[in-house]
Amino acid sequence: MTFIAPRVADEKDWLQGETGPWELIIGLEVHAQVASIAKLFSGAPTAFGAEPNTQVALVDAGLPGMLPVVNKYCVEQAVRTGLGLNAQINKFSRFDRKNYFYVDLPQGYQISQFEHPVVGEGEIEIVPEGGEPVTVGIERLHLEQDAGKSIHDLSPDETYVDLNRSGVALMEIVSKPDMRSAAEASAYVDALRQIVRALGTCDGDMEKGNLRADVNVSVRKPGGELGTRCEIKNVNSLRFIRQAIGYEARRHIEILEAGGEIDQETRLYDTVKGETRTMRSKEDAHDYRYFPDPDLLPLELSDDFIDRIKADLPELPAARKARFVEQFRLPDYDAGVLTSDKATGDYFEIVAQKRDPKSASNWMMGELFGRLNADEIGIEDSPVSADALGGLIDRIADKTISGKIAKDVFSKMFEGEGTADEIIERDGLKQVTDMGAIEAMVDEVIAANRDQAEKAKDNPKLVGFFVGQVMKKSQGKANPQAVNELLRSKLGL
Ligand code: MN
Repeated sequence: MTFIAPRVADEKDWLQGETGPWELIIGLEVHAQVASIAKLFSGAPTAFGAEPNTQVALVDAGLPGMLPVVNKYCVEQAVRTGLGLNAQINKFSRFDRKNYFYVDLPQGYQISQFEHPVVGEGEIEIVPEGGEPVTVGIERLHLEQDAGKSIHDLSPDETYVDLNRSGVALMEIVSKPDMRSAAEASAYVDALRQIVRALGTCDGDMEKGNLRADVNVSVRKPGGELGTRCEIKNVNSLRFIRQAIGYEARRHIEILEAGGEIDQETRLYDTVKGETRTMRSKEDAHDYRYFPDPDLLPLELSDDFIDRIKADLPELPAARKARFVEQFRLPDYDAGVLTSDKATGDYFEIVAQKRDPKSASNWMMGELFGRLNADEIGIEDSPVSADALGGLIDRIADKTISGKIAKDVFSKMFEGEGTADEIIERDGLKQVTDMGAIEAMVDEVIAANRDQAEKAKDNPKLVGFFVGQVMKKSQGKANPQAVNELLRSKLGL
Protein backbone atom coordinates (compact mmCIF):
# COMPACT_ATOMS: atom_id res chain seq x y z
CA MET A 1 0.00 0.00 0.00
CA THR A 2 1.32 3.41 -0.84
CA PHE A 3 0.97 6.09 1.69
CA ILE A 4 1.20 9.70 0.67
CA ALA A 5 2.44 12.08 3.33
CA PRO A 6 0.46 15.29 3.67
CA ARG A 7 2.21 18.32 2.29
CA VAL A 8 2.73 21.09 4.80
CA ALA A 9 0.21 23.10 2.80
CA ASP A 10 -2.38 20.56 3.87
CA GLU A 11 -1.92 21.54 7.49
CA LYS A 12 -4.90 23.89 7.30
CA ASP A 13 -7.24 21.14 6.11
CA TRP A 14 -6.26 19.01 9.08
CA LEU A 15 -6.66 21.94 11.42
CA GLN A 16 -10.23 22.23 10.31
CA GLY A 17 -10.63 18.55 11.09
CA GLU A 18 -11.40 17.58 7.50
CA THR A 19 -11.04 13.88 7.95
CA GLY A 20 -14.02 12.76 5.92
CA PRO A 21 -16.19 10.18 7.68
CA TRP A 22 -13.50 9.62 10.31
CA GLU A 23 -13.40 11.24 13.70
CA LEU A 24 -10.04 12.17 15.12
CA ILE A 25 -9.44 11.37 18.82
CA ILE A 26 -6.53 13.05 20.54
CA GLY A 27 -5.23 12.84 24.08
CA LEU A 28 -2.04 14.40 25.36
CA GLU A 29 0.54 13.68 28.00
CA VAL A 30 2.47 16.85 28.67
CA HIS A 31 5.73 16.79 30.59
CA ALA A 32 6.27 20.13 32.27
CA GLN A 33 9.54 20.71 34.09
CA VAL A 34 9.00 22.15 37.55
CA ALA A 35 10.60 25.59 37.84
CA SER A 36 12.72 24.76 40.87
CA ILE A 37 16.39 25.38 41.51
CA ALA A 38 16.98 21.87 42.86
CA LYS A 39 15.99 18.41 41.62
CA LEU A 40 13.05 16.32 42.82
CA PHE A 41 15.06 14.00 45.09
CA SER A 42 18.43 15.74 45.45
CA GLY A 43 19.90 19.17 46.05
CA ALA A 44 21.71 19.26 42.69
CA PRO A 45 21.00 22.39 40.63
CA THR A 46 18.80 22.37 37.53
CA ALA A 47 20.10 25.44 35.63
CA PHE A 48 19.91 25.05 31.85
CA GLY A 49 23.04 24.98 29.71
CA ALA A 50 25.63 23.91 32.32
CA GLU A 51 28.68 21.83 31.33
CA PRO A 52 27.74 18.14 31.02
CA ASN A 53 27.71 16.10 34.24
CA THR A 54 28.39 19.07 36.52
CA GLN A 55 24.96 19.07 38.17
CA VAL A 56 24.75 15.51 39.40
CA ALA A 57 24.31 14.43 43.01
CA LEU A 58 25.27 10.87 43.89
CA VAL A 59 21.60 9.87 44.01
CA ASP A 60 21.05 11.28 40.46
CA ALA A 61 23.88 9.04 39.26
CA GLY A 62 22.11 6.04 40.77
CA LEU A 63 25.04 5.07 42.99
CA PRO A 64 24.28 2.17 45.34
CA GLY A 65 23.08 3.06 48.80
CA MET A 66 22.04 6.61 47.98
CA LEU A 67 18.61 7.64 49.23
CA PRO A 68 16.19 10.07 47.60
CA VAL A 69 14.74 12.92 49.70
CA VAL A 70 11.56 14.62 48.43
CA ASN A 71 11.94 18.29 47.54
CA LYS A 72 8.96 19.92 49.26
CA TYR A 73 9.04 22.90 46.93
CA CYS A 74 8.41 20.64 43.91
CA VAL A 75 5.41 19.07 45.66
CA GLU A 76 4.03 22.56 46.31
CA GLN A 77 4.40 23.43 42.64
CA ALA A 78 2.54 20.29 41.59
CA VAL A 79 -0.32 21.15 43.96
CA ARG A 80 -0.32 24.74 42.73
CA THR A 81 -0.56 23.51 39.15
CA GLY A 82 -3.34 21.11 40.09
CA LEU A 83 -5.32 23.96 41.62
CA GLY A 84 -4.74 26.00 38.45
CA LEU A 85 -6.23 23.11 36.45
CA ASN A 86 -9.34 23.08 38.64
CA ALA A 87 -8.31 19.61 39.69
CA GLN A 88 -8.76 17.34 42.68
CA ILE A 89 -5.75 17.47 45.00
CA ASN A 90 -5.09 14.03 46.47
CA LYS A 91 -4.13 14.30 50.10
CA PHE A 92 -2.58 10.86 49.85
CA SER A 93 -0.19 10.02 47.03
CA ARG A 94 2.76 7.72 46.57
CA PHE A 95 5.93 7.33 44.55
CA ASP A 96 6.44 4.20 42.49
CA ARG A 97 9.32 2.71 40.57
CA LYS A 98 8.81 2.36 36.84
CA ASN A 99 11.37 -0.18 35.78
CA TYR A 100 13.17 -0.01 32.49
CA PHE A 101 16.74 0.03 31.30
CA TYR A 102 18.30 2.84 29.40
CA VAL A 103 21.84 4.20 29.47
CA ASP A 104 20.68 7.64 30.56
CA LEU A 105 18.67 6.15 33.44
CA PRO A 106 21.40 4.93 35.80
CA GLN A 107 19.00 3.76 38.55
CA GLY A 108 17.41 1.28 36.16
CA TYR A 109 14.03 2.72 37.09
CA GLN A 110 12.27 6.05 37.04
CA ILE A 111 10.63 7.27 40.23
CA SER A 112 7.12 8.27 39.19
CA GLN A 113 3.60 8.09 40.59
CA PHE A 114 1.41 5.33 39.25
CA GLU A 115 -1.62 4.30 41.29
CA HIS A 116 -1.82 7.37 43.49
CA PRO A 117 -0.93 10.60 41.68
CA VAL A 118 -0.72 13.83 43.66
CA VAL A 119 -3.40 15.45 41.46
CA GLY A 120 -6.57 13.81 40.15
CA GLU A 121 -9.26 14.88 37.70
CA GLY A 122 -9.70 18.47 36.56
CA GLU A 123 -10.61 20.47 33.48
CA ILE A 124 -9.65 23.53 31.50
CA GLU A 125 -11.41 25.52 28.84
CA ILE A 126 -9.60 26.13 25.57
CA VAL A 127 -10.44 28.23 22.53
CA PRO A 128 -9.06 26.74 19.29
CA GLU A 129 -8.16 29.20 16.56
CA GLY A 130 -11.32 30.26 14.76
CA GLY A 131 -13.43 27.90 16.85
CA GLU A 132 -15.75 27.74 19.81
CA PRO A 133 -14.57 27.13 23.41
CA VAL A 134 -14.06 23.45 24.29
CA THR A 135 -13.67 21.93 27.75
CA VAL A 136 -10.84 19.43 27.97
CA GLY A 137 -10.75 17.01 30.89
CA ILE A 138 -7.58 16.44 32.87
CA GLU A 139 -7.12 12.81 33.90
CA ARG A 140 -4.29 13.36 36.38
CA LEU A 141 -1.05 15.11 37.17
CA HIS A 142 1.81 13.20 38.72
CA LEU A 143 5.34 14.00 39.77
CA GLU A 144 8.26 12.06 38.37
CA GLN A 145 11.96 12.44 37.73
CA ASP A 146 13.44 13.17 34.32
CA ALA A 147 16.11 10.94 32.78
CA GLY A 148 19.54 12.08 31.63
CA LYS A 149 20.40 12.69 28.02
CA SER A 150 22.17 10.38 25.57
CA ILE A 151 24.24 12.22 23.02
CA HIS A 152 24.60 10.28 19.80
CA ASP A 153 26.05 12.88 17.49
CA LEU A 154 29.39 13.79 19.10
CA SER A 155 31.17 10.65 18.02
CA PRO A 156 30.59 8.26 15.11
CA ASP A 157 30.99 5.13 17.21
CA GLU A 158 30.22 6.12 20.80
CA THR A 159 27.28 7.47 22.76
CA TYR A 160 27.90 10.00 25.51
CA VAL A 161 25.69 10.47 28.53
CA ASP A 162 24.94 13.77 30.29
CA LEU A 163 23.27 13.27 33.67
CA ASN A 164 22.57 16.94 34.40
CA ARG A 165 18.88 16.39 33.65
CA SER A 166 18.74 13.14 35.61
CA GLY A 167 16.39 13.63 38.54
CA VAL A 168 14.95 16.98 37.49
CA ALA A 169 11.29 17.25 38.61
CA LEU A 170 8.61 16.83 35.97
CA MET A 171 4.88 17.19 36.22
CA GLU A 172 3.23 14.79 33.80
CA ILE A 173 -0.17 16.21 32.95
CA VAL A 174 -2.44 13.66 31.29
CA SER A 175 -5.53 14.84 29.44
CA LYS A 176 -8.64 12.85 28.66
CA PRO A 177 -9.02 11.93 24.98
CA ASP A 178 -11.26 14.96 24.53
CA MET A 179 -9.68 16.68 21.53
CA ARG A 180 -11.03 16.23 18.02
CA SER A 181 -8.66 18.23 15.83
CA ALA A 182 -5.05 19.34 15.60
CA ALA A 183 -6.22 22.89 16.30
CA GLU A 184 -7.79 21.79 19.59
CA ALA A 185 -4.67 19.87 20.62
CA SER A 186 -2.48 22.84 19.88
CA ALA A 187 -4.81 25.23 21.73
CA TYR A 188 -4.79 22.86 24.70
CA VAL A 189 -1.00 22.82 24.97
CA ASP A 190 -0.93 26.58 24.53
CA ALA A 191 -3.51 27.00 27.31
CA LEU A 192 -1.55 24.68 29.62
CA ARG A 193 1.58 26.63 28.87
CA GLN A 194 -0.13 29.91 29.73
CA ILE A 195 -1.47 28.47 32.97
CA VAL A 196 1.85 27.08 34.24
CA ARG A 197 3.62 30.29 33.28
CA ALA A 198 1.04 32.41 35.10
CA LEU A 199 1.38 30.14 38.14
CA GLY A 200 5.16 30.28 37.90
CA THR A 201 5.37 26.49 38.24
CA CYS A 202 7.08 25.86 34.88
CA ASP A 203 8.90 28.17 32.47
CA GLY A 204 6.94 26.65 29.58
CA ASP A 205 9.85 27.16 27.21
CA MET A 206 9.18 24.54 24.55
CA GLU A 207 12.42 25.25 22.70
CA LYS A 208 14.44 24.33 25.77
CA GLY A 209 12.30 21.23 26.13
CA ASN A 210 10.91 22.16 29.52
CA LEU A 211 7.40 21.63 28.20
CA ARG A 212 6.93 18.80 25.72
CA ALA A 213 4.01 16.70 24.62
CA ASP A 214 3.40 13.03 23.91
CA VAL A 215 0.51 12.99 21.48
CA ASN A 216 -1.93 10.06 21.35
CA VAL A 217 -3.82 9.83 18.09
CA SER A 218 -6.48 7.44 16.88
CA VAL A 219 -9.41 7.63 14.49
CA ARG A 220 -12.88 6.09 14.54
CA LYS A 221 -16.21 6.34 12.81
CA PRO A 222 -18.28 8.77 14.95
CA GLY A 223 -20.08 6.92 17.71
CA GLY A 224 -18.05 3.78 17.05
CA GLU A 225 -15.51 2.10 19.28
CA LEU A 226 -12.20 3.85 19.89
CA GLY A 227 -9.54 2.93 17.37
CA THR A 228 -6.06 1.68 18.20
CA ARG A 229 -3.91 4.63 19.15
CA CYS A 230 -0.34 5.56 18.42
CA GLU A 231 1.72 7.75 20.69
CA ILE A 232 4.05 10.31 19.19
CA LYS A 233 6.78 11.05 21.72
CA ASN A 234 8.29 14.35 22.82
CA VAL A 235 6.93 16.83 20.34
CA ASN A 236 8.28 20.22 21.34
CA SER A 237 6.45 22.94 19.42
CA LEU A 238 2.81 23.76 18.75
CA ARG A 239 3.40 23.68 15.01
CA PHE A 240 5.03 20.25 15.16
CA ILE A 241 2.14 18.98 17.30
CA ARG A 242 -0.32 20.07 14.58
CA GLN A 243 1.79 18.62 11.79
CA ALA A 244 2.42 15.32 13.58
CA ILE A 245 -1.31 14.89 14.25
CA GLY A 246 -2.13 15.69 10.63
CA TYR A 247 0.34 13.14 9.33
CA GLU A 248 -0.62 10.46 11.82
CA ALA A 249 -4.37 10.87 11.27
CA ARG A 250 -3.97 10.53 7.54
CA ARG A 251 -1.75 7.48 7.98
CA HIS A 252 -4.39 5.76 10.14
CA ILE A 253 -7.22 6.59 7.76
CA GLU A 254 -5.35 5.33 4.74
CA ILE A 255 -4.45 2.05 6.44
CA LEU A 256 -8.01 1.50 7.70
CA GLU A 257 -9.63 2.40 4.40
CA ALA A 258 -7.36 -0.10 2.67
CA GLY A 259 -8.66 -2.76 5.10
CA GLY A 260 -5.54 -2.81 7.26
CA GLU A 261 -5.07 -2.64 11.02
CA ILE A 262 -3.24 -0.12 13.18
CA ASP A 263 -0.44 -1.47 15.35
CA GLN A 264 -0.29 0.13 18.78
CA GLU A 265 3.12 1.71 18.87
CA THR A 266 5.28 4.58 19.99
CA ARG A 267 6.39 6.81 17.15
CA LEU A 268 8.73 9.71 16.58
CA TYR A 269 7.96 12.83 14.59
CA ASP A 270 10.74 13.67 12.15
CA THR A 271 10.53 17.45 11.90
CA VAL A 272 12.74 17.58 8.82
CA LYS A 273 10.83 15.02 6.76
CA GLY A 274 7.49 15.99 8.27
CA GLU A 275 6.55 12.38 9.02
CA THR A 276 6.17 10.02 11.96
CA ARG A 277 7.95 6.70 12.12
CA THR A 278 8.04 3.69 14.40
CA MET A 279 10.19 3.90 17.50
CA ARG A 280 9.04 0.80 19.32
CA SER A 281 5.90 -1.22 19.78
CA LYS A 282 3.96 0.30 22.68
CA GLU A 283 4.38 -1.40 26.00
CA ASP A 284 1.55 -1.55 28.50
CA ALA A 285 1.78 -0.31 32.07
CA HIS A 286 2.24 -3.85 33.41
CA ASP A 287 5.43 -4.21 31.37
CA TYR A 288 7.10 -1.71 33.68
CA ARG A 289 6.50 -3.75 36.84
CA TYR A 290 5.57 -0.69 38.87
CA PHE A 291 5.85 -1.06 42.63
CA PRO A 292 5.89 1.45 45.52
CA ASP A 293 9.35 2.89 46.02
CA PRO A 294 10.55 1.46 49.36
CA ASP A 295 12.94 4.39 49.82
CA LEU A 296 10.15 6.97 49.99
CA LEU A 297 7.23 7.41 52.35
CA PRO A 298 3.82 8.23 50.86
CA LEU A 299 3.01 11.91 50.56
CA GLU A 300 0.35 13.04 52.99
CA LEU A 301 -0.79 16.61 52.50
CA SER A 302 -2.62 18.55 55.19
CA ASP A 303 -5.61 20.79 54.47
CA ASP A 304 -3.54 23.64 55.82
CA PHE A 305 -0.75 23.00 53.29
CA ILE A 306 -3.24 22.96 50.39
CA ASP A 307 -5.18 25.98 51.68
CA ARG A 308 -2.03 28.07 51.97
CA ILE A 309 -1.18 27.37 48.31
CA LYS A 310 -4.78 28.08 47.29
CA ALA A 311 -4.77 31.45 49.07
CA ASP A 312 -1.68 32.46 47.11
CA LEU A 313 -2.92 31.63 43.57
CA PRO A 314 -2.63 34.45 41.00
CA GLU A 315 -5.36 35.42 38.56
CA LEU A 316 -5.17 32.88 35.72
CA PRO A 317 -5.23 33.79 32.01
CA ALA A 318 -8.84 32.69 31.40
CA ALA A 319 -10.13 34.71 34.36
CA ARG A 320 -8.05 37.70 33.38
CA LYS A 321 -9.35 37.51 29.82
CA ALA A 322 -12.94 37.49 31.04
CA ARG A 323 -12.17 40.46 33.28
CA PHE A 324 -10.58 42.40 30.40
CA VAL A 325 -13.71 41.90 28.29
CA GLU A 326 -15.92 42.95 31.19
CA GLN A 327 -13.90 45.78 32.73
CA PHE A 328 -12.34 47.29 29.59
CA ARG A 329 -15.05 46.34 27.08
CA LEU A 330 -12.40 44.80 24.83
CA PRO A 331 -13.31 42.45 21.99
CA ASP A 332 -12.69 38.80 22.83
CA TYR A 333 -9.79 38.63 20.41
CA ASP A 334 -7.93 41.59 21.96
CA ALA A 335 -8.50 40.28 25.46
CA GLY A 336 -7.14 36.87 24.45
CA VAL A 337 -3.96 38.29 22.97
CA LEU A 338 -3.36 40.70 25.84
CA THR A 339 -3.73 38.03 28.52
CA SER A 340 -1.68 35.37 26.77
CA ASP A 341 1.13 36.08 29.20
CA LYS A 342 1.39 37.90 32.47
CA ALA A 343 3.82 40.62 31.40
CA THR A 344 1.64 41.62 28.42
CA GLY A 345 -1.45 41.83 30.62
CA ASP A 346 0.41 43.90 33.22
CA TYR A 347 1.68 46.26 30.51
CA PHE A 348 -1.83 46.72 29.14
CA GLU A 349 -3.32 47.48 32.54
CA ILE A 350 -0.83 50.32 33.02
CA VAL A 351 -1.43 51.80 29.55
CA ALA A 352 -5.21 51.48 29.84
CA GLN A 353 -5.38 53.18 33.21
CA LYS A 354 -7.56 56.29 32.75
CA ARG A 355 -7.25 56.03 28.95
CA ASP A 356 -9.37 54.60 26.20
CA PRO A 357 -8.73 50.83 26.53
CA LYS A 358 -9.34 50.15 22.85
CA SER A 359 -6.66 52.69 21.82
CA ALA A 360 -4.28 51.11 24.32
CA SER A 361 -5.02 47.68 22.86
CA ASN A 362 -4.65 48.89 19.25
CA TRP A 363 -1.31 50.52 19.95
CA MET A 364 0.01 47.45 21.69
CA MET A 365 -1.19 44.92 19.13
CA GLY A 366 -0.18 47.15 16.21
CA GLU A 367 2.94 49.27 16.59
CA LEU A 368 4.35 47.83 19.80
CA PHE A 369 4.08 44.11 18.99
CA GLY A 370 5.16 44.84 15.41
CA ARG A 371 8.42 46.37 16.58
CA LEU A 372 9.01 43.90 19.41
CA ASN A 373 8.50 40.94 17.08
CA ALA A 374 10.67 42.41 14.34
CA ASP A 375 13.50 42.93 16.83
CA GLU A 376 12.76 39.69 18.73
CA ILE A 377 12.43 41.52 22.04
CA GLY A 378 10.13 40.36 24.84
CA ILE A 379 7.68 42.89 26.25
CA GLU A 380 9.58 42.82 29.56
CA ASP A 381 12.52 44.41 27.75
CA SER A 382 10.51 46.82 25.62
CA PRO A 383 12.41 50.09 25.02
CA VAL A 384 9.04 51.85 25.29
CA SER A 385 7.61 51.38 28.78
CA ALA A 386 3.89 51.16 29.46
CA ASP A 387 3.92 54.65 30.99
CA ALA A 388 5.76 56.04 27.96
CA LEU A 389 3.27 54.52 25.52
CA GLY A 390 0.47 55.94 27.65
CA GLY A 391 2.10 59.37 27.38
CA LEU A 392 2.05 59.11 23.60
CA ILE A 393 -1.61 58.08 23.53
CA ASP A 394 -2.42 61.10 25.73
CA ARG A 395 -0.95 63.44 23.08
CA ILE A 396 -3.25 61.95 20.43
CA ALA A 397 -6.25 62.17 22.73
CA ASP A 398 -5.63 65.86 23.46
CA LYS A 399 -5.04 66.47 19.73
CA THR A 400 -1.44 67.67 20.14
CA ILE A 401 -0.48 65.27 17.34
CA SER A 402 -2.38 63.22 14.80
CA GLY A 403 -2.44 59.44 14.85
CA LYS A 404 -0.22 59.40 11.80
CA ILE A 405 2.50 61.60 13.34
CA ALA A 406 2.19 59.52 16.51
CA LYS A 407 3.44 56.49 14.60
CA ASP A 408 6.63 58.35 13.71
CA VAL A 409 7.00 59.52 17.28
CA PHE A 410 6.54 55.96 18.49
CA SER A 411 9.25 54.77 16.18
CA LYS A 412 11.65 57.38 17.59
CA MET A 413 10.67 56.44 21.14
CA PHE A 414 11.47 52.84 20.30
CA GLU A 415 14.91 53.96 19.08
CA GLY A 416 15.48 55.54 22.48
CA GLU A 417 15.23 59.19 21.39
CA GLY A 418 13.13 60.23 24.37
CA THR A 419 9.56 60.52 25.61
CA ALA A 420 6.65 61.49 23.36
CA ASP A 421 6.66 65.05 24.73
CA GLU A 422 10.39 65.44 24.25
CA ILE A 423 10.26 64.26 20.65
CA ILE A 424 7.18 66.36 19.78
CA GLU A 425 8.89 69.44 21.21
CA ARG A 426 12.30 68.75 19.66
CA ASP A 427 10.95 68.02 16.18
CA GLY A 428 8.25 70.71 16.25
CA LEU A 429 5.50 68.17 15.57
CA LYS A 430 2.65 69.95 17.31
CA GLN A 431 -0.46 69.80 15.22
CA VAL A 432 -1.40 73.09 13.53
CA THR A 433 -4.82 73.99 14.85
CA ASP A 434 -4.52 77.68 13.91
CA MET A 435 -7.42 77.98 11.47
CA GLY A 436 -5.86 80.99 9.72
CA ALA A 437 -2.72 79.04 8.87
CA ILE A 438 -4.72 76.02 7.70
CA GLU A 439 -7.00 78.19 5.57
CA ALA A 440 -3.99 79.77 3.85
CA MET A 441 -2.66 76.34 2.92
CA VAL A 442 -6.08 75.17 1.72
CA ASP A 443 -6.38 78.23 -0.53
CA GLU A 444 -2.93 77.67 -1.98
CA VAL A 445 -3.65 74.04 -2.78
CA ILE A 446 -6.98 74.87 -4.46
CA ALA A 447 -5.37 77.65 -6.48
CA ALA A 448 -2.68 75.29 -7.71
CA ASN A 449 -5.23 72.63 -8.75
CA ARG A 450 -8.11 74.53 -10.39
CA ASP A 451 -9.07 71.69 -12.77
CA GLN A 452 -9.29 69.15 -9.99
CA ALA A 453 -11.33 71.59 -7.89
CA GLU A 454 -13.92 71.83 -10.70
CA LYS A 455 -14.10 68.06 -11.02
CA ALA A 456 -14.51 67.67 -7.27
CA LYS A 457 -17.95 69.26 -7.51
CA ASP A 458 -19.18 66.18 -9.42
CA ASN A 459 -16.86 63.74 -7.79
CA PRO A 460 -16.67 64.41 -4.02
CA LYS A 461 -14.19 61.58 -3.60
CA LEU A 462 -11.53 63.91 -4.98
CA VAL A 463 -11.53 65.70 -1.63
CA GLY A 464 -9.13 63.01 -0.51
CA PHE A 465 -6.59 64.24 -3.02
CA PHE A 466 -6.86 67.80 -1.63
CA VAL A 467 -6.59 66.62 1.99
CA GLY A 468 -3.43 64.78 1.01
CA GLN A 469 -1.94 67.87 -0.62
CA VAL A 470 -2.67 70.11 2.37
CA MET A 471 -1.32 67.55 4.82
CA LYS A 472 1.83 67.29 2.74
CA LYS A 473 2.21 71.07 2.71
CA SER A 474 1.88 71.16 6.50
CA GLN A 475 4.33 68.26 6.83
CA GLY A 476 1.55 66.24 8.38
CA LYS A 477 0.95 68.72 11.16
CA ALA A 478 -2.37 70.25 10.09
CA ASN A 479 -5.34 68.97 12.03
CA PRO A 480 -6.88 66.55 9.47
CA GLN A 481 -10.44 67.17 10.63
CA ALA A 482 -10.10 70.94 10.27
CA VAL A 483 -8.53 70.51 6.82
CA ASN A 484 -11.36 68.26 5.73
CA GLU A 485 -14.07 70.62 6.89
CA LEU A 486 -12.46 73.69 5.33
CA LEU A 487 -11.90 71.93 2.01
CA ARG A 488 -15.48 70.72 1.81
CA SER A 489 -16.86 74.18 2.33
CA LYS A 490 -14.39 75.85 -0.09
CA LEU A 491 -14.96 73.22 -2.79
CA GLY A 492 -18.69 73.66 -2.37
CA LEU A 493 -19.33 70.06 -1.36
MN1 MN B 1 6.27 10.40 32.00
